[in-house]
Amino acid sequence: MSNEVKIKDAICPACGSGNIVKKQIAGELKDLFNTRQTYMKVQFNCKDCNTIGDFFNENDEAEQEALCNLNFDLLNKIVAKLKKLGISPTKIEAAFNLSYGSINDWVSGKCHPTKEGMALLKVIVLFPWIHELFEDGCASIYGYQKFMDMMTSDLVGLI
Ligand SMILES: [Zn+2]
Repeated sequence: MSNEVKIKDAICPACGSGNIVKKQIAGELKDLFNTRQTYMKVQFNCKDCNTIGDFFNENDEAEQEALCNLNFDLLNKIVAKLKKLGISPTKIEAAFNLSYGSINDWVSGKCHPTKEGMALLKVIVLFPWIHELFEDGCASIYGYQKFMDMMTSDLVGLI
């Protein structure tokens, strides 16, 4: 509690009291490889009603930046892991009709990956065989059957 600072001219959103302190605490985000990204954020505490939180949304920017760093790190890990498995960015782009070069643009930092793009890469790295189902740009009935077989064997492997 040593870094608590009394805040002036602010009102508790829960009870309306002006008896508020602010302190710096460590925030942490982690990705699906358990990589952790820590960052500093603020926490307000109303001394009258004990409500705790980011009363004035001061953490949004820090959280966004930490998430961005974590995503960039995760993106690089996923692409490296897929390359090791023989699945190049070009293969993924072709299978899922992504713009040619988009994954390399994300990796180089030329532009940010879309949320959908990151979601897709997370799915592919968890189930690397999935891109094979889409090699012609769409999933076939044969592909669907193969998907169910592979999914079942993956799930059985997890049990
Ligand atoms: Zn309060």
